[in-house]
Amino acid sequence: MRGVVYHGPGDVRVEPDLPMPTVRGPRDAVVRVTKTAICGTDLHPYRGEIPGFESGTVLGHEFTGTLVEAGSGVSLHVGQRVVASDIVACGRCERCARGEHYQCELVTLFGYSTVVGAALPGGQAEYVRVPYADVVLAAVPDDLTDEEALFAGDILSTGYAAIQATAMLPGQVVAVVGGGPVGLCAAMCAIAAGAARVVVTDLDQERRERANRLGFTASSPAGLSAALARAGAPDGAPAVVEAVGTDAALAAAVRAARPCATIAVVGAHHAPDLPFPAGTAFARELTVRFVVGDPIRYRDQVLALVRADRLDPAALVSHRMPLSAAAEAYHLFDRREAFKVVLDASG
Ligand code: ZN
Ligand code: ZN
Repeated sequence: MRGVVYHGPGDVRVEPDLPMPTVRGPRDAVVRVTKTAICGTDLHPYRGEIPGFESGTVLGHEFTGTLVEAGSGVSLHVGQRVVASDIVACGRCERCARGEHYQCELVTLFGYSTVVGAALPGGQAEYVRVPYADVVLAAVPDDLTDEEALFAGDILSTGYAAIQATAMLPGQVVAVVGGGPVGLCAAMCAIAAGAARVVVTDLDQERRERANRLGFTASSPAGLSAALARAGAPDGAPAVVEAVGTDAALAAAVRAARPCATIAVVGAHHAPDLPFPAGTAFARELTVRFVVGDPIRYRDQVLALVRADRLDPAALVSHRMPLSAAAEAYHLFDRREAFKVVLDASG
């Protein structure tokens, strides 16, 4: 079978003869992939930011497809269309029981070498083995296409988790730092939750234009306070999402926050230490929450909002390409010439 294989920074290749995955235990399933996306997370190894990321890794953690084989412990039937959670968790340990799936003792991520847990071949491939499939997979509702369901497995659920973590109330103004795919997913989820306005700030002009086209108020980082004031939040936003993962973005999130606001940080932070405006955060009595995202917990709510046309995943997709064009797709995505790429693995 074909799959997208990492060979080193800037070097991904579609290989034609990868081993076919098989069911190895009662909770395993094999999925024939239809749609798979490239995530910003995939760019970290592509850019050489993760030393030790193993060459030969089949990449990808956002995918939908059709169940073709399942162990006896999986109640989904062969032929069912499914969407996978990017996070693989056992669903049975104490932490999973609390709904904290990323803290599962056995957690891992598809296609991400050993960065999060045990290595597991990813979903940018024609077939993929899914462990704990009874927990990791969800049925795609009959009235949604595979592409419409795809982002419930990662970026839409992550944006939703961020908005949940801010505890925003209907009618409030929400600030989102970072206009990438996860930032815009959070912005969409804020509107779906009744936000009066969402102000999205990004350094990149094209990303600001995209945010404006989607009905949000875009601003440059320097213009954020003024934009919030115009949006009706002169003291700052009560709910802030940081969707970049840098100290500058975190500082911008603190600047955007009104007294006693909650900041949900979904941008991936890997630095062991970082500068933080602690004095301002203390004086304003801010709550800062770090949120990885949890599709297993939130995908049902997210899929219901997609079905009700209150979230529009198609608005995020800039490129649809065949799996065979994955190397070019990574190149475009890395250079920000593509905003979000969906690869078709069924052709
Ligand atoms: Zn991702
Ligand atoms: Zn667990």
